[in-house]
Amino acid sequence: MANIDVAVAIPSMSQPYSKSDSLNQSSAPPIICWFRQDLRLNDQPAWRAACETSLRTGQAVLPIYILDDAAAGEWAMGAASRVWLYHALKKLNESLGGNLMVFCGAAGDILLQLAQTYAATHVFWNRCYEPWRIARDEKIKENLRFQTSAKIESLNGSLLWEPWEVKKADGSYYKVFTAFYRRGCLAAPAPRAPLPAPKLPMFFEATHEPPIDQKPHTYAPVKLADLQLLPRAPRWDLAMMSIWNVGEHAAHKKLQDFINHGLAGYREGRNFLALDQTSKLSPHLHFGEISPHQIWAALADVTDEKLGPDLDCYQSELGWREFAHSLLYQFPELPAIPLNKKFMRMEWVEPEPEMLTRWQHGETGYPLVDAGMRELWATGYMHNRVRMVVASFLVKGLRYHWRVGEDWFWDCLVDADLANNAASWQWVAGCGADAAPYFRIFNPQLQAEKFDAKNAYINRWAPQSHKIKPMIDHAASRDAALTAYKKL
Ligand SMILES: Cc1cc2nc3c(=O)[nH]c(=O)nc-3n(C[C@H](O)[C@H](O)[C@H](O)COP(=O)(O)OP(=O)(O)OC[C@H]3O[C@@H](n4cnc5c(N)ncnc54)[C@H](O)[C@@H]3O)c2cc1C
Repeated sequence: MANIDVAVAIPSMSQPYSKSDSLNQSSAPPIICWFRQDLRLNDQPAWRAACETSLRTGQAVLPIYILDDAAAGEWAMGAASRVWLYHALKKLNESLGGNLMVFCGAAGDILLQLAQTYAATHVFWNRCYEPWRIARDEKIKENLRFQTSAKIESLNGSLLWEPWEVKKADGSYYKVFTAFYRRGCLAAPAPRAPLPAPKLPMFFEATHEPPIDQKPHTYAPVKLADLQLLPRAPRWDLAMMSIWNVGEHAAHKKLQDFINHGLAGYREGRNFLALDQTSKLSPHLHFGEISPHQIWAALADVTDEKLGPDLDCYQSELGWREFAHSLLYQFPELPAIPLNKKFMRMEWVEPEPEMLTRWQHGETGYPLVDAGMRELWATGYMHNRVRMVVASFLVKGLRYHWRVGEDWFWDCLVDADLANNAASWQWVAGCGADAAPYFRIFNPQLQAEKFDAKNAYINRWAPQSHKIKPMIDHAASRDAALTAYKKL
């Protein structure tokens, strides 16, 4: 594969914060920067706004993270994502010179307490698009505005185009990907350029005596370990994380490697399992260790015309991410309810625990399915094509409700993302927007022959699988699925 060595700027994290800086520590009211799915310091609009305000006013910045499982409800982060989060927060804290304050509990109460106790003048954060977050954040904003004098600002740090900006001429939303992306996104104003890195500000030490006498502290910051993000025993995370480098710097390095070594031939190569030719940026994008704007801008610097189709294909994958977020914004019920309401009548099979476990553990007797499920278990990741195959196996082979698979992926993926996961499961099940037609049923054997002809992927993850008696007969289950789908 051609080596096209394009230089991607890897943001420098090398402005070490010296503890002696805190001698200049101001006890003036701080500026709060709330980190969420934007665990980076470069091209981070909320962080930049906080730093710029600090530079102008001389105030110190209080960077915080809040784990708010109760508000997330059934979409509280899954086990694999928690492990990633642990490492991502650790890295972010290092970049912040150890000044990140971590809290656990109701975000609204914690922010209100901090803003009131220290009479914060500003609270900045970047928007997230999960329905529970949108609802919660609106309330938080209203409450802070009502009960404090802080200026509250939310910004866009994680989508190239805000969902409400990409609409048809008649004001309605797109429901078909190609039109959304080509006529909507690409015809809209181009995504903004990445923001230059701000200078590290002075940090506010929240242990300072509150300037005014306030209510007693209800919430105290906790240690990262207190969040209990890592599994206790067995420590499966150790093997899983041995293949990942977490953090902003690692994300940029990965982007650079992908552009230099993976982009040429991506359009075709992305389907071939042993080539390992995709960018693997999905967890970094989900946690915001890199922004899509930084990726978009780095791609724009690729000038080799031969790479046009590969570039276009990779950009359109980022477009799928935008589409999924637009769908979630339009249909907050996306993770739970089929977009095509006909599917409410679908006669799903009640999962048998033993059968479900075989799918989850990669013991179906279909080597490609088993390899994918084992890759997922071992690494928190699965190749996109194999995700489609194992999902089709669950939904159309076993005829289990797509939510069963969506939940398992949610728990196991390090890139688990409410919009991407829900939209993709609905796509495979045939009930989503612009979904795979009901008669498209992936044949795991044919898929393996085509995309893993030498069994390299299968041999890596599930070499024993061909010895397992297949749990279903593909042809018979296909007929049963077609009958069930046709009834709709
Ligand atoms: C059943 C199923 C569930 C999925 N669940 C998730 C999920 O929870 N989180 C997630 O990020 N992706 C999910 N995907 C989409 C896709 O499989 C992953 O984004 C991709 O495999 C990540 O690998 P990569 O970064 O190497 O992708 P690349 O090929 O390098 O693509 C670059 C980026 O584009 C985005 N992207 C690519 N394909 C899609 C897609 N179909 N939908 C939305 N965004 C896409 C991702 O952010 C990805 O990092 C799912 C797909 C299926 C079929």
